[in-house]
Amino acid sequence: MRFWRGADGQKPTGMCQTLTDLALNPSSVIGYRVRKEQGWRWVDFRGFPIPPSSIASSLPSALLHAPVNFAHFPLLILLQTLHYTPQAVSGSIANMNSTAFPSYAAPEYWAQVDKIGAQYPALNYFEKLWAGWYAYMNNDILATGIMSFVMHESVYFGRSLPWIIIDCLPSLFRRYKIQNHKIPSAYEQFQCAMLVLLSHFTVELPQIWFFHPLCQYFGLQTTVPFPPLWKIAFQIAVFFVMEDTWHYWTHRLMHESTFMYKNVHKIHHQYSAPFGLAAEYASPIEVMCLGLGTVGSPILFCALSGGDLHILTMYLWIVCRLFQAIDAHSGYEFPWSLHHILPFWAGAEHHDVHHEKFVGNYSSSFRWWDYFMCTETGTEAFKAKRSAKAAEKAKRSVKKNV
Ligand SMILES: [Zn+2]
Ligand SMILES: [Zn+2]
Repeated sequence: MRFWRGADGQKPTGMCQTLTDLALNPSSVIGYRVRKEQGWRWVDFRGFPIPPSSIASSLPSALLHAPVNFAHFPLLILLQTLHYTPQAVSGSIANMNSTAFPSYAAPEYWAQVDKIGAQYPALNYFEKLWAGWYAYMNNDILATGIMSFVMHESVYFGRSLPWIIIDCLPSLFRRYKIQNHKIPSAYEQFQCAMLVLLSHFTVELPQIWFFHPLCQYFGLQTTVPFPPLWKIAFQIAVFFVMEDTWHYWTHRLMHESTFMYKNVHKIHHQYSAPFGLAAEYASPIEVMCLGLGTVGSPILFCALSGGDLHILTMYLWIVCRLFQAIDAHSGYEFPWSLHHILPFWAGAEHHDVHHEKFVGNYSSSFRWWDYFMCTETGTEAFKAKRSAKAAEKAKRSVKKNV
């Protein structure tokens, strides 16, 4: 039996041995590790204590079944989501898991926030809101899942809205439009929003739901206080680099393989002049493949760093990544665009050309992969290639004349 680490007394934290065991012989699932008043205890599904001898005898089998257990996440998540028994627990702030916050009798969210604030005045306002949410929900999977999904939807559509408004104000902004003869119609934008919504509910929601248990497995933190800002910024920068690398190679493969392009990536290229809402307009397979770079990078980081990742950092990373993806599809290049300040930043100009020409400029956030792999395309790339050619010509003629 494989047990999850560091949970509280309010929800199950164990994993069954094999799927067949669970289906054929539910009693083989020993139970959960919970924290009681006296410390950590093993209990079965009914909450009865399990003798230490049973646990010791199950350990060799647990080691054998570890790979199989890993494949049981969907079932485990379902069990964890459905099965929890609220109990008050106690603990010091230093070792507290967010779910280990005392679950007070008051069911209201703000009552939880007030009571946590009164008990731990050192926490800042946002930390109190955070801890209050987890204490109120009393279920980590649901708390993280709901928060992630709501955040994703509000940021996606919230960030796309200004671009829709900008499209409606041609006298002010048309001069900044990269392909200014191709303006998306209202119907096109509506159709795109509907497909994106469908994809969010059917493809991204399960991925978001998986994220918390998967990271919990690798030791993701949900504790308060939050990590320092420098650490959050550093980790997000690392995720940008990791995701960009994944995106470059996967995206390039989708173009270079005719099968992948025709069957998967072609949907995303329906709009040769992209607009903000089209950032996630793609086949479910593409959303899963490219989304793996966004979700998988922090998970890999979490695993390699021994759990040095807070879920807040993950949220902020997703927000940054959504802004990057939507802005890259906006279709507008301003004199104040980030690309002009950070020349290695890809931005809208880089990705717009990709949609226009269907080739080159495969990376998401930065320009270096396309630069080093010679897959740049577009006016600036042609300019660079032209000047490189001219320089070479000049060199050759100098050699000839010498
Ligand atoms: Zn493409
Ligand atoms: Zn695109």
